[in-house]
Amino acid sequence: MDGQPEQIAAAVTRLREGGLVAFPTETVYGLGADALRADAVQKVFEAKGRPASNPLIVHVADEAMAARVVASWPAEARKLAERFWPGPLSIVLPKAPVVPAIVTGGGPNVAVRCPAHPLTLALIAAFDGPLVGPSANVSGFVSPTTAAHVREAFDERDVLVLDGGDCVGGIESTVVSVVGGKARVLRSGLIDAAVIGEVLGREVECADSGSISVTPNASTPAESPGQLSSHYAPRAKAVLVDAGQIKRVVLGVKGECVVIAREEEEGLPEADALSSQGKPHVIRMPRDAKGYARRLYAALREADALHPELIVIVTPPDQSVHPVWRAVRDRLKRATA
Ligand code: AMP
Ligand code: MG
Repeated sequence: MDGQPEQIAAAVTRLREGGLVAFPTETVYGLGADALRADAVQKVFEAKGRPASNPLIVHVADEAMAARVVASWPAEARKLAERFWPGPLSIVLPKAPVVPAIVTGGGPNVAVRCPAHPLTLALIAAFDGPLVGPSANVSGFVSPTTAAHVREAFDERDVLVLDGGDCVGGIESTVVSVVGGKARVLRSGLIDAAVIGEVLGREVECADSGSISVTPNASTPAESPGQLSSHYAPRAKAVLVDAGQIKRVVLGVKGECVVIAREEEEGLPEADALSSQGKPHVIRMPRDAKGYARRLYAALREADALHPELIVIVTPPDQSVHPVWRAVRDRLKRATA
């Protein structure tokens, strides 16, 4: 890519000044800052309006850099990193003292991941240190999957944006805790709990969105503190409905209505017939789970841009069809909570 060394040099300078750099990854765009500087990390929380209790994932260039931010790098972590890194898997372990408390929301553990994007790997290597990288959006709203999405949310004077094209994964990383030798998926993603289990040679529990508490209470801190019931949400009201209900729900909406449905979804012909009369606006999604995930956040943003009274999302299949549907459904539940 033309100008890439100059872009990276400018980004490294910004990071060394304690500033913010948005970077592309294979999942979504991250809002980066020096993970070892509390003042820089503080700016990430401020820019996003993120609750201080919601910990940040630390992005590293390789396993050696990961080992610098954790208390120890056990066999489970080694196996997972060797199999899945660079890639959409964040590994939670007890943190090293060098990691400021602000990064982990005050908790004892840190999540680390090595992202699979050449531009960002080059950035982290050139910076020669770990970067925090929550999704580069205002807290609670839809995550960014293009550089343009990031620019809509932040002023270029505050956030230098590295443009690495559209994100190919489209939804946030799988978060797996291997604290105390026990493996638990805290947030589902493109890498499924069953595959993690195969690599570790044991069954891995998955804390599904339905079973996660909304408000972590002080006496028993949530294992995954940032997992809020309402998240990834468009500004417009959004609901999840079964295909057979599209017509009934759409007819109940007086103003603008957007339907997000997979191609060839049962019920879509009825929505199309209605839309020839001007309502609803139909956004068609890929039929396959990975294609749907890649398109999801851009589709929610397109829907939101129409300022509809209601966004109607047709419930996609479940994980029995493909494991990635679990992660997609998790995001859809939170987007419509
Ligand atoms: P985001 O960066 O917006 O994709 O959100 C990161 C999410 O990863 C948080 O909301 C947590 O659910 C999870 N996470 C990050 N760090 C930790 C940690 N130290 N322990 C448990 N979960 C974490
Ligand atoms: Mg986020």
